[in-house]
Amino acid sequence: MEDNCIFCKIIKREIPGDIVYENEYVCAFKDLHPVAPIHILVVPKIHITSLQDVNDENLEYVAQIQKAFKEIAKITGISDKGYRVICNCGEDGGQEVKHLHYHFIGGKKLGAKIVHD
Ligand code: 5GP
Ligand code: ZN
Repeated sequence: MEDNCIFCKIIKREIPGDIVYENEYVCAFKDLHPVAPIHILVVPKIHITSLQDVNDENLEYVAQIQKAFKEIAKITGISDKGYRVICNCGEDGGQEVKHLHYHFIGGKKLGAKIVHD
């Protein structure tokens, strides 16, 4: 865990987060600035900075995230409707928060598959 990381602080309940799902490996909470009716951030419960920092030691956390999407879809009631998962990595990828996170987005028909500019 990193002292100055907002997502680590949400995981540790040091700052409020609207947590919708959690298990041993994964924490999922509502994005502060949703871009769709459902916009949830899914993060590993250890500090991994970005996709560039995934390795054999922390891979289980990332694998568990892949499984958590299905649970979150069930909880939010959109398993059948579908959803989109986005992971921004690094500067060109537009990553602002330096704790690996996946945007789980849905609740409406989404537009362009690749967002530009
Ligand atoms: P990024 O641009 O790094 O892929 O996405 C960061 C996301 O974190 C943004 O969608 C932003 O709205 C969200 N965010 C930033 N600060 C907070 C916060 O303190 N709490 C929550 N729940 N979301 C945040
Ligand atoms: Zn962190």
